Amino acid sequence: MSAPAPRSQVADIARQARALLVQVRESRWTGFDPPAARSSPAGTASPDRSSAAASRHPSRTATAPERSRRAPAAITAAAPLVTTPMPAEPSPWNSLEQVALAVSACTKCPLHATRTKTVPGEGDAQARLMFIGEAPGADEDRLGRPFVGAAGHLLDKMIGAMGFPRERVFIANILKCRPPGNRDPQEHEVAACLPYLRAQIALIRPRVLCSLGRHAAHALLGRTDSLSRLRGRFFEYRGTPLMPTYHPSYLLRTPADKTAAWKDLRQVMHLLGQSPPERHPTEESEQ
Ligand code: SF4
Repeated sequence: MSAPAPRSQVADIARQARALLVQVRESRWTGFDPPAARSSPAGTASPDRSSAAASRHPSRTATAPERSRRAPAAITAAAPLVTTPMPAEPSPWNSLEQVALAVSACTKCPLHATRTKTVPGEGDAQARLMFIGEAPGADEDRLGRPFVGAAGHLLDKMIGAMGFPRERVFIANILKCRPPGNRDPQEHEVAACLPYLRAQIALIRPRVLCSLGRHAAHALLGRTDSLSRLRGRFFEYRGTPLMPTYHPSYLLRTPADKTAAWKDLRQVMHLLGQSPPERHPTEESEQ
């Protein structure tokens, strides 16, 4: 029978076991996938995302299956922000102007027949933050600009409260043409229009996306949970953190939920490295 291990050896083994446990725990909360190489030419797919990622984060990618094959899952708000993780994807457009031009001539879904103006989106081409609503309303359809009515006025306040002028973010919608009578977007319309938004996101490469309302969250995440279940936590959209929150139109009708919306925006600010004010300025509005 062998002699029992000396006390110091037992302590060593216990220390190593504890360290291993910490590593295993941390590997479950790795945050976002590593970005595809920014140097990938626009419009081409990254040749091998997993191997490129493995070379940068060997311990993380060795244990995690590639996320793009899974349905988007919520990620912890405290996860570290990986810089601009946008995978390249084939796109026929090389600039936001080209996307807007293609939208203006688009007849891919029946909404082209009833629109007054297309609403491709507007803002800073290098925005760190991008807001995505569902579709243009009557004012937007008339002016060709996103979020310009009462809901737009509240969105401006929300953006201002976050410390940004409107011109510093990019604002777009899932649909670029108004559904008649502001009805809900249809699945085939979303499918036809989404390539434009995807191209815009790939060109801008924002650090954070914020979807506004149920339809935008569902279209981007491919999930059908209620917005109250989705909001308040980050998901990953093609490598970029995405915070679903309430649509300003809903907040105008339901001011009691402005507190929750402000909590969501505060999380976005944290991720962007900004200090959020304590109180939520979205409470002051046209009620
Ligand atoms: Fe084209 Fe989108 Fe307008 Fe449909 S909603 S016509 S897909 S731009």
